[in-house]
Amino acid sequence: IVSIEGLRKSFGQVEVLRGVDLKVGKGEAVVIVGSSGSGKSTCLRCINRLEEPTAGMIRVGGQEVTGPKVDLDKLRRGIGMVFQGIHLYPHKTALGNVTLALRKVVGLGKEEAEAKARHHLEVVGLAHKADAYPAELSGGQQQRVGIARAMALEPQVMLFDEPTSALDPELVGEVLNVMVRTKEMGMTMIVVTHEMKFARDVADRVVFMDHGAILAEGTPQEILVNPQHQRIRDFVMRSH
Ligand code: ATP
Ligand code: MG
Repeated sequence: IVSIEGLRKSFGQVEVLRGVDLKVGKGEAVVIVGSSGSGKSTCLRCINRLEEPTAGMIRVGGQEVTGPKVDLDKLRRGIGMVFQGIHLYPHKTALGNVTLALRKVVGLGKEEAEAKARHHLEVVGLAHKADAYPAELSGGQQQRVGIARAMALEPQVMLFDEPTSALDPELVGEVLNVMVRTKEMGMTMIVVTHEMKFARDVADRVVFMDHGAILAEGTPQEILVNPQHQRIRDFVMRSH
């Protein structure tokens, strides 16, 4: 459902992505790992055109992202994104945040949007916090509202960029659990994370990025448990 071919991205003279090829099937969860600066975030950001690729082709659900006449609003409607920083509207409640997205992006009427928003808050275990403002929620709860908001728009794929790395350790698990649930619901997911246990348990495929290219990809077993490359062995050792 996602197809990336020969993706390159330079910032000035610096080539940050040096020809990335990646295919993700419907319902598949792909976890991208790799050291800091290897280009993981840039790669995700190219998928919804938050970054302009320098070269290469990206397709999401048959639509060519890198095409000249692509409708960016329409494209992004089909791609849910959750990242590290928390990005809810502070003056709207949890329910208000999810409802607003459904009204603005999908154009649903008030009642339908609210009903749907309540459903998605329930899925992430936050039905009881519907009327809380972001400031009244923990970081983990805020991140779960962010996931509910993205999922409510029924995207073709969800992109996660280190969604737990800004959280206190005791809040990481609840967000990962919601991500497991998302996967179980059949959502196609591309996840950048340092959570090796999540990668081992949930990923259908693990991709190891190194200096702007994919050094290896395979099952979690192949990449994280019995890595063939010394660089990956070093990375896995450091991640424990
Ligand atoms: P981390 O694990 O630290 O999040 P990453 O794998 O996500 O790292 P990227 O954020 O994709 O790495 O960055 C890859 C490289 O591109 C880095 O060297 C970074 O400094 C550079 N880079 C990213 N964004 C820009 C930008 N807007 N302008 C210039 N250089 C950038
Ligand atoms: Mg990053």
